[in-house]
Amino acid sequence: MSIKEIFNNMDYGTAPENANEAKQWLKNKNNSLTHYINGAWQTPSENTYFTSKNPVNKETLAQVADGSTVDVNNAVKAATSAQKSWFALGGHGRAKYLYALARQIQKHSRLFSVLETLDNGKPIRESRDIDIPLVARHFYHHAGWAQLMAKELPNSEPLGVVGQIIPWNFPLLMLAWKVAPALAMGNTVILKPAEFTSATAVLFAQVCDEIGLPKGVFNLVLGDGKAGQAIVEHKDIAKIAFTGSTAVGKLIRKATAGTGKKISLELGGKSAFIVFEDADLDSVVEGVVDAIWFNQGQVCCAGSRLLVQESINDKFITKLKARMNKLIVGDSLDKSIDMGAVVDQSQLDIINKMVKIGVDEGASLYQCGCDLPKDGCFYPPTLLTDVEPASTVAQQEIFGPVLVATTFRTPKEAVQIANNSRYGLAASVWSENINLALDVAPQIKAGVIWINCTNMFDASVGFGGYRESGFGREGGKEGLFEYIKESWQTKLSDKAPIKTAKVSAKVNNEQVIDRTPKLYIGGKQVRPDSGYSLPVYDINGVQIAEVPDGSRKDIRNAVEAANKAVGWTNTSAHNRAQVLYFIAENLTVRQNEFCQRISQLTGKSDKDALTEFDLAISRIFTYAAWCDKYDGQIHQPPARVVTLAMKEALGNIAIVAPEEGGFLGLISTIMPAIALGNRIIVIPSEQTSLLATDFYQVLNTSDLPAGVINIITGDRDVLTDTLAKHYDIEGFWYWGSAAGSKLVEFEAAATMKRTWVNNGKYYDWFDDEQAQNELFLRNSVEIKNIWVPYGA
Ligand code: NDP
Repeated sequence: MSIKEIFNNMDYGTAPENANEAKQWLKNKNNSLTHYINGAWQTPSENTYFTSKNPVNKETLAQVADGSTVDVNNAVKAATSAQKSWFALGGHGRAKYLYALARQIQKHSRLFSVLETLDNGKPIRESRDIDIPLVARHFYHHAGWAQLMAKELPNSEPLGVVGQIIPWNFPLLMLAWKVAPALAMGNTVILKPAEFTSATAVLFAQVCDEIGLPKGVFNLVLGDGKAGQAIVEHKDIAKIAFTGSTAVGKLIRKATAGTGKKISLELGGKSAFIVFEDADLDSVVEGVVDAIWFNQGQVCCAGSRLLVQESINDKFITKLKARMNKLIVGDSLDKSIDMGAVVDQSQLDIINKMVKIGVDEGASLYQCGCDLPKDGCFYPPTLLTDVEPASTVAQQEIFGPVLVATTFRTPKEAVQIANNSRYGLAASVWSENINLALDVAPQIKAGVIWINCTNMFDASVGFGGYRESGFGREGGKEGLFEYIKESWQTKLSDKAPIKTAKVSAKVNNEQVIDRTPKLYIGGKQVRPDSGYSLPVYDINGVQIAEVPDGSRKDIRNAVEAANKAVGWTNTSAHNRAQVLYFIAENLTVRQNEFCQRISQLTGKSDKDALTEFDLAISRIFTYAAWCDKYDGQIHQPPARVVTLAMKEALGNIAIVAPEEGGFLGLISTIMPAIALGNRIIVIPSEQTSLLATDFYQVLNTSDLPAGVINIITGDRDVLTDTLAKHYDIEGFWYWGSAAGSKLVEFEAAATMKRTWVNNGKYYDWFDDEQAQNELFLRNSVEIKNIWVPYGA
């Protein structure tokens, strides 16, 4: 096209990026990409390779090593022997390496960008201006955390060897999100990229080599799901960090259940993009382009569900369609295109299938009229309107450039539709009324909310989901917790600390007649549905009472009562603190009675019982104190935006209190959870269950709203199983056997409950370091990051 022609029609010409350097880099490697293990390039042990193609033209880019269990074992061996000395380098020592990585990534940024685009099909504009700069930013940011670790995270230790499995949509960026915090905290890494996109991970390994990163600190195993599985199952790996599909995330949750491996899962999404009638519609249209046509819609947090207020729907959809018609789909290396190629033919097939399902279910299809290149994996920007909120395309992730649209009438309805999803990764809220936007944002169950913006990311801001979008955060200080353990966690004992009652045939008849406590559900004492009871013995084995034998229906009622107590979650932290103080006050009045009961059930001397009681009161005070102090944060990413990192209660938490922990164990576990606004269903210890039933009399007089604490006595294993399978519970804290811990983690996979289990270890409930610490608070909340741009 001549300049004159361009001047007349104002069309973009092409602006192709030169790919020669990247192609030469591949050629220098004989178009063969291999593992990087223990500081050396390694061919695959089984000598098998698969082909990696450029999705723009389906040309072969390279042969990629197909990793096996042997390769993974070698990498784990190398990482294990490197880990201690890597941590021993100290924060400053590691910071220097991370800084060097950041510098080298900047230096080679064009090569990284072009290679990423060749391999993945994403527009060069995006890999050059978004992916790679963010990668460098992550290494800079985490060089800082390495430097500050000792000061900011005292008493923390690395986990050891970390296995990281990443997807193909942001290959190098996902590598950076995982590798930078892991190395900063003193761990060593085995990383497996997705089989479609290994190239930039290999270039990164080359950079590690060039800066002289100690061998074994970063190990790269290429391959497919088999290599991923070998990493997940390796016994010497302390943690798995995974980004990918919810289906594989669930497999990983199940495979690691009971192994003690820490896991973080960043899974799929179906994020709502909510447009209120007072929004600046021209900005919103550009927002939609960024939300769903960025990276061909292959973005876990893509704003793929458009919710438009009914009053402006027609006007907005008309504007959007006009904008769609201007979008250019073309060669990913062309700087003037809007959308490039989808990663692979298999993904293209999925997109086609999903759109057909949408149309079959009644949606109206609109696609931009742009020309698509003939040979590659291209799909046009697509809009499905008249979509029912319950239809397949509104519920399932499509992972392509397909937007599904529906309408709402009121803010309340917008929130309901937005939350009508098994996912909870992100949402965008568009309104010129900041009060409305900030009212809606906290009500949406998602880890990231963008107000009048979308798809913004930064190393200082945590990213991660609620519900089946997974758990754990990447970025910011909260992301570091995924890669450390606290020193006290290594001191937990394998031995139970107290005597349990010897069962004798004796029955103390007086007390049996006097004491027939009930379950405590929804603020009321209720009989167990089963109509059965279990005996309770004193320390001498004499039966002194019976407690209800709770069952599935009691659990169901308790969860329903907890759901209704949502006012507790929404009330102010100050109000919650007052109730906790009041509980402590009313409990203190009954000190003698509780101390006698502790002695009777555990055989403790009066003095020891009083010590336990006093410590329980102190714990209640501690969490009353934390109610209004466990604040969020404001992050300042490098843009004109502030990010409010808000701590939100999980919702319903099931707590299986420690059997050996007695009254103190019960108080120590339930108080932090309710302090931060959760509603709980607690299974007390069997031996000391009478203390729990005594305790609800205190709750009845302490202004605690009905349904905040629900107490179900009975067989702990049976109740644990029922609770673990319940779909309406967001968190599960378990202190019990190793088998029980495994069961809780395994069953949690169905709905991705946040679990916290003891793996059969025993806490010392008298030791504040173990039994009253930040982990109790951290496990009570999710962190939601709300991005608020500023500037006129
Ligand atoms: P997967 O979840 O299958 O892949 C993610 C990573 O896990 C890849 O490295 C993959 O290897 C690896 N992997 C696959 N199976 C296992 C296993 N059993 N154990 C351990 N690791 C495993 O996603 P896909 O690439 O297959 O994409 C399928 C769908 O997942 C997409 O259509 C999209 O809906 C969703 N997705 C979501 C992403 C997100 O960011 N949330 C990212 C990518 C996909 P390999 O590449 O060799 O299969």
